[in-house]
Amino acid sequence: MEMIASRLDDLLATEGLEIRADGRAGSGAVLTMQALAAVAVANPRLHVQEWPFFSSARKGAPTRGFLRISRRPIAKASEITHPHIACLLDEGVTTTVDFAQGVPHGGIFILNTTRSPEDGARRFRLSGRVVTIDGDGIAQRFLKKPIGNISLLACLTELLPGFDQEVTQERLRWLLGRRRLPASMIEANCNLFAASLGCANIADCDEAGPTDHQPSPFPGYGDLAPGAQSRLRLSRNNLTSAYARTGYRLKFADPEGICNGCGHCIVNCPENIIEFHPDPAIGVRVTGALITQYCKLCHECIAICPKGLFTEAPLPAEGKGGSQQ
Ligand code: SF4
Ligand code: SF4
Repeated sequence: MEMIASRLDDLLATEGLEIRADGRAGSGAVLTMQALAAVAVANPRLHVQEWPFFSSARKGAPTRGFLRISRRPIAKASEITHPHIACLLDEGVTTTVDFAQGVPHGGIFILNTTRSPEDGARRFRLSGRVVTIDGDGIAQRFLKKPIGNISLLACLTELLPGFDQEVTQERLRWLLGRRRLPASMIEANCNLFAASLGCANIADCDEAGPTDHQPSPFPGYGDLAPGAQSRLRLSRNNLTSAYARTGYRLKFADPEGICNGCGHCIVNCPENIIEFHPDPAIGVRVTGALITQYCKLCHECIAICPKGLFTEAPLPAEGKGGSQQ
C-alpha cells in the first residue's frame, strides 16, 4: 500500500493525478468527484479541475466524472482518456461503456460491487490494483437505497496521500448541504462514509490481455475546454427539454445583481444553454438560460451556483416559459 501511496504522491508532484468515474445518472459518480475536488480545494498546495459529462437523458443514462489533482498548475482542459484511477459506480453501465478504457497497465480500479477483487479483475479483464467494496450494500443499511458512491469516496480518501478522512466528511457535509439534502440525510451519508472506511477488499491482479481497454479510435474532444463538447454533441433535433421533470422548469432570478461571474453554471451546464454577456467588473454576467427546448432540469446549475440564483419552479398555468430572467 505504501508503494501505491508514493506513486500517487509522485504523480501529484509531476504530471498530475487523473481520476475518472463511470456510473448512471443517479448513481452519484459526479458527486463522488465533486466531493473529492472539494477536499482537494481545501488544500492550498493542490490545483484541482473537476467536471462532469452527461448524455442527453436523465435518470439511468451513463454519466462520467473527471478529476485532475496536481501540485502544479493544471494546463489541460479536456476529457481524461488515460486515468491513473478508474472508478465504477454501477456495473450495469459496462454494457455500453468501458470504464477501464485507456487505464495504463498497473493502474488502479475501484469498483462498487459485491465481487472480490480477483473476480472483478476476471470479469472486467483488469491488470493493476483492484479495490472492491459493496457500496450498494452498505448504503442500503444507512440510506435504505443502493447507492455506492459514498463508499467509493471513502476508498478514494484512504488511497490518496494527504487526504484526511475528517476533512472529507466535513466537505461532504458541506456539499450535500448545498444540494439541499435534509439534515437527517446528510447525517446518514456521513455515517455511511465512516462505516465504509476499512471495508474495501484489495488485490493486485493481472487479467487484461494486450488489446483490452485500448483507447477509443474516436479521439474524444481533445483539448476543447470543458463545456465546449456540448456544442458538438448537441443535436438540434434532440429536444432535451423533454427529459425535464414534468410540470416544472428552471428559473433564474438575480434582482440584486449578485452574480459574481464565477462561470460555474456556464461550464457545468451539459446543454451549453446558459446565457451571459461580458461584464467589465466581473468578467461575465449571467442573465438566464435558454430553457425552451434544451433544459432537461438536470440541476447542475442549481447545485453549483454559489449565489443560489437558479431554482426549479412549477410551470405557470398559462403555459411554458422561454428564456429565463
Ligand atoms: S438545469 Fe441548468 S445545467 Fe441543467 S440543462 Fe438546465 S440550464 Fe443546463
Ligand atoms: S454560477 Fe451563479 S454566480 Fe456563478 S456565474 Fe453562474 S449565475 Fe453567476
